Amino acid sequence: MYINGKVTKGNATEKIEVLNPATEEVLGAAWRGTPQDAEAAVLAAKAVFPAWRRTPANLRAGMMHQAAAKLREGHEELVRLLTLEEGKPIPENEEEVWWVEETLDYYAELGRHHRGAVLPPGDPAQFNFTLEQPWGVVACIIPWNYPLLLLVWKLAPALAAGNTVVIKPSEFTPLSTLKVIEMAFDHFPPGVVNVVTGTGLETGEPLVLHPDVRMVAFTGSLATGQRIASQTASSMKKLHLELGGKDPMVIGPDVEIRMAVRGLAYSALLNAGQVCTSTERVYVHESLYPQFAEELAEFVSGLKLGNGLDESTDVGPMLRDHFRAKVEGQVDEAVKAGARLVIGGERPVELEKGFFYRPTILADVNHSMRIMTEETFGPVIPLMPYKDIDEAIRLANDTPYGLGASLMSNDLKFVKRFFEEVEAGSIWINDPLTDNFAGPFGGMKMSGLGRELGEAGLLEFTQVKHVHWDMEAEIKEFWYPYGTAE
Ligand code: NAD
Repeated sequence: MYINGKVTKGNATEKIEVLNPATEEVLGAAWRGTPQDAEAAVLAAKAVFPAWRRTPANLRAGMMHQAAAKLREGHEELVRLLTLEEGKPIPENEEEVWWVEETLDYYAELGRHHRGAVLPPGDPAQFNFTLEQPWGVVACIIPWNYPLLLLVWKLAPALAAGNTVVIKPSEFTPLSTLKVIEMAFDHFPPGVVNVVTGTGLETGEPLVLHPDVRMVAFTGSLATGQRIASQTASSMKKLHLELGGKDPMVIGPDVEIRMAVRGLAYSALLNAGQVCTSTERVYVHESLYPQFAEELAEFVSGLKLGNGLDESTDVGPMLRDHFRAKVEGQVDEAVKAGARLVIGGERPVELEKGFFYRPTILADVNHSMRIMTEETFGPVIPLMPYKDIDEAIRLANDTPYGLGASLMSNDLKFVKRFFEEVEAGSIWINDPLTDNFAGPFGGMKMSGLGRELGEAGLLEFTQVKHVHWDMEAEIKEFWYPYGTAE
């Protein structure tokens, strides 16, 4: 772990093994932290907070740029470790590590440029302004699917805004997080950045419940997010929650099928479908439906499943067997209920080890099937035809989630109705899943609260204070007593 500037085992007495999902071999292990370790990290972060919040933004920015530079030096090592630990292919991890470096630079600059506002006063003697102040100790609780990117989308704005941080990585992917912090954050004052490894219940929950943690920034499943929300209701902690999704893609009647097939395959199979914004439901205009399904099947059949370290691999393994079993359950149930299995629906026999599942296309699904209503988080593409714009938008919105939504079309009327009427925090037209440093990212409905990235992503980590100052310091006529003049 990393507490108060030191690599430590804390009070831990045992380790949790980390597996390589492509080989099922043990890759390493991290200490199984205890509630006392969470406490020690919070106290270290609390102790340094008064000094860190007063550190000029320029100096904080300098330290963050330095962290980005150190990560660029260790880039290849990190990409390799992430591939071994999380499983997705090298190009996807190249991109993840690049995002980490760039996000640190982005928030370093945004943080030192950021300012409150002077407001129009209610009277010439008054001076009104706002201050954007840090919350204090922030717990950053991270999932396994993009362990570094989802970490830095919180860590960078939290530090830039003057907070101190305790990180709780997923028990499945602690090694790359520890590597990032040891490699690139050792020049920060001790206690500003801490990492506590271990299980959600033993180290995550003590952070959530700790009275000195003033904000919880969490990415993960809806169930854990709901638990955190109910556990913090009485303390009124600031919550930032990025939860699950069931993102739709609508294929318009005007598209070039070849382009739409490639875009869909990418957005549904990236990271073996284990992206919170993976396309998990596809609505194809009825005029294209049979041909689209055929061309999609032909393209996806040509993708290579394999170890992420192999340069020829397109799609890597799923993270663990139990996640694969959940996907298999949803696919089998859909087929029993009448869905047509176009390709896939099985484990690849040619790969003896690893948690692989063949990219799968289902046709003729409907919204009575779990594959169209529950998060799947695997390499499955379910297709359903629709007749017109009204039906496409109704189907896209028929979900409790609202993270992202994609449209493939250049029909102006369709595009405008889609971005106005679809309830999702990110709308992608003809370029699914492409994020932008300045573009706020987050969910509507059950997909979460708050936004990461952009200016909104910095403001999440601040609380706004309004200062009202009457410079003349005179008795006001509207003060007591009402009845008699003095
Ligand atoms: P998870 O909820 O099981 O775990 C996430 C983190 O929370 C882990 O570090 C875990 O140890 C910790 N945790 C578990 N129980 C806890 C508790 N009671 N108190 C505090 N911490 C606890 O999620 P996961 O399986 O790691 O991640 C997959 C999920 O994350 C999917 O549902 C996916 O959609 C979602 N996700 C969302 C986004 C987004 O931006 N909206 C991004 C990526 C993943």
